[in-house]
Amino acid sequence: MSFPASFAGDLQAEAERLGFVLCGIAPAQPAPHHAAFTRWLAQGLHGGMAYLARERDISARADPRRLMENCRSVISLAVRYPAPAQLEIQSGYPFGRIAAYACSTDYHLTLPRRMGTFGDVLRRMTGIGELAIRSYTDSAPILERNFAQLAGMGWIGKNTCLISPRFGSYLLLAELLVTIELPPAEPFPFDRCGTCRRCIEACPTACIRPDRTLDAGRCISYLTIEHKGIIPRELRPKLDSWIFGCDVCQQVCPWNRLSAQQSFDPAFAPRFPPSPDLHGELRLSVQEFRRRYADTPLSRPKRRGYLRNAAVALGNVRNPQDVPLLAEVLQSEPEPLVRAHAAWALGQVGTSAARTALSAARRHEPAPQVREEIALALQAG
Ligand code: SF4
Ligand code: SF4
Repeated sequence: MSFPASFAGDLQAEAERLGFVLCGIAPAQPAPHHAAFTRWLAQGLHGGMAYLARERDISARADPRRLMENCRSVISLAVRYPAPAQLEIQSGYPFGRIAAYACSTDYHLTLPRRMGTFGDVLRRMTGIGELAIRSYTDSAPILERNFAQLAGMGWIGKNTCLISPRFGSYLLLAELLVTIELPPAEPFPFDRCGTCRRCIEACPTACIRPDRTLDAGRCISYLTIEHKGIIPRELRPKLDSWIFGCDVCQQVCPWNRLSAQQSFDPAFAPRFPPSPDLHGELRLSVQEFRRRYADTPLSRPKRRGYLRNAAVALGNVRNPQDVPLLAEVLQSEPEPLVRAHAAWALGQVGTSAARTALSAARRHEPAPQVREEIALALQAG
């Protein structure tokens, strides 16, 4: 069965009707960026994300036909979430920062139903009621930005984001793998970064490498979301007020300069502020954290990772007024990971009250990693 070139335009119109701002088709083929991906893994630049280096996942990323045996086409889709400029962000003490995409319901929960509807539309359009479809949104080993570029949706910028010349980079991607050959788009032909280096220069941890990869282990998004343990001491000050993710390399990108004027997908309207009061976040009980953030991206690092980040952000402010709260966390927080970073934060404040709180906690602290942080904080003060 073959489809006319006009099919792609009709499909795009249907995708737009469902809220996808971009839709493109690429042939199922080996992913051109796979060699660069395996080099990146071999250099150990994936931080603690060991799942990326699993043999079967590496193999699947090489070619979507390893995810779906008879796959012939990959349909890439994108939705647009609010840009930071479209959110009410409060900066300065005592506010933290959350990446713009994360202030709404988790897209892993929102998008599958919409992709299912789109799949039904595709079956109707093709007249193949039994058409086999696999749909993913960051849920399978596929080089999704690479296929979005092959589908003509944009280019991969130096900040490693997919950038659409029309919509910028505040996009979430999804894919449908299908067993029929659909008329493919031309791959996006340009690198419109040109000589620009703004993202490289603005990145707080200098983790954007010249070859369009990230040293993920240093990226604030990785450290505050994926990283499970202690945040390396030398990187903690670089987190500044970021407590979940980081938008810096997108905010400085000239291709996002018109983002405030573009509408965003209502499914990603913010449910909570992108700049919460750090004091309140550090006091969140297990139940409160679950009630507020269970179905949002913030559940990914779990309460202990999120409160760890809030403690670091408060330490970066170095405000003596925060000593009572940090001391309380160090005394009574059940998670050693959070206590360890509260100890560091007290060391950053460094007043005599902070040292007194550290010394008092040292006497009965049971966890070796927290005792070590207390000792280092007392040395630093
Ligand atoms: S998300 Fe932040 S830390 Fe990561 S590359 Fe971008 S600017 Fe750097
Ligand atoms: S800031 Fe400049 S170099 Fe970085 S992704 Fe945007 S256009 Fe490319």
